[in-house]
Amino acid sequence: MATSAGRILEDRTLPANSPWARVLQKGQTLRIIDLEGKQAVDFLCYNADDPSERYNAADTMKYAGTIFLTAGHGLYSDMGRRLLTIVEDTCGRHDTIGGCCSAESNEVRYGVKATPSCRENFLKALQPFGLGKKDVVANVNWFMNVPVGPDGAMAIVEGLSKPGDYVGLRAEMNVLAVISNCPQTRNPCNNFHPTPIRVVVSE
Ligand SMILES: [Zn+2]
Repeated sequence: MATSAGRILEDRTLPANSPWARVLQKGQTLRIIDLEGKQAVDFLCYNADDPSERYNAADTMKYAGTIFLTAGHGLYSDMGRRLLTIVEDTCGRHDTIGGCCSAESNEVRYGVKATPSCRENFLKALQPFGLGKKDVVANVNWFMNVPVGPDGAMAIVEGLSKPGDYVGLRAEMNVLAVISNCPQTRNPCNNFHPTPIRVVVSE
């Protein structure tokens, strides 16, 4: 796969239901590749040097002027600073409002108990960095499709990503990036079939 970035620091395939986290040094890039298409990738980010500063979904949407982020938009912290810039996006449809799945919300929505979830994966990924439940905030979902109708209706529907679609993110400060490769099987966010993704970190 062609990459415009420099030396590759990590190149990893994450099966469905995998947590992942890494500190990106300022200027490094993270490319997230939806290998088979239609796979939701739940994502959080923090100032790695002071994780009390973290992604703020509402401010990110206000600055972008849209709920649908794409190349050129920034992911902003609650301190009004850009954590990451979306530098490439071959899909063009991602979600900023749907949040992550949890065992609790799966029980409320689908009547099933003790399901694997992105919230649990976030907690697993955050634990080595000394972060926990208080640090899980509203997140971005790459490749997840949550359209909003003119009457305000919203729903999680099948994603628009094709096999191999990717987003590239450039760190604008030292950033702790956190992923849950979503295990959801009870709504169309993963086309009812969670699949692997690939993450590539480059200088
Ligand atoms: Zn999920």
